[in-house]
Amino acid sequence: MKALLVVDMVNDFVSSNGALTVPGAMALLPNIELAIKKIVEKEGKIIFCNDQHELNDPEFDAYPSHCIKGTWGSAILDSFMTDLHSTIVGKTTFSAFSNGVLDDLLKSMNVHTIFVCGVVTEICIKRTVWSARDIGYETFVLTDCIKGLDDADAGMALMKMGWWDALPIKSTEL
Ligand SMILES: [Zn+2]
Repeated sequence: MKALLVVDMVNDFVSSNGALTVPGAMALLPNIELAIKKIVEKEGKIIFCNDQHELNDPEFDAYPSHCIKGTWGSAILDSFMTDLHSTIVGKTTFSAFSNGVLDDLLKSMNVHTIFVCGVVTEICIKRTVWSARDIGYETFVLTDCIKGLDDADAGMALMKMGWWDALPIKSTEL
């Protein structure tokens, strides 16, 4: 079984009036929507991995407050269709795997191969891919469906993900 992980495509990171908008993230939408369509056609699973913080989360020592659980900021963009193929998993750290919920879910679905997309390339995407490879998932990075904050850092992150055998692929190649 295959699954597409859509990381942090939530209002606070993507919408123009979000708390921590990633410039250019909105432009990923057509490619991510294509990736979702192709994975659903192959009967794969779509997992939205959304930042969901408590009001006093320690992450706010380093970053402005964002993605408070239950608020508009932590909700996925309205334009994404959620249906029987999709599940939303909350996360409070950079890696979508760190609280164990995602790994349990993927194992319950018999998923062995994951495709990762969303934001931010050099933060949550990199850390999620690192965790996935540590656990042993066959992992692909959708290079036309991710966006970094800094081009040089994002390029370095992609190189490191390659060292960890997370293979680059485009949405059109799915
Ligand atoms: Zn956060």
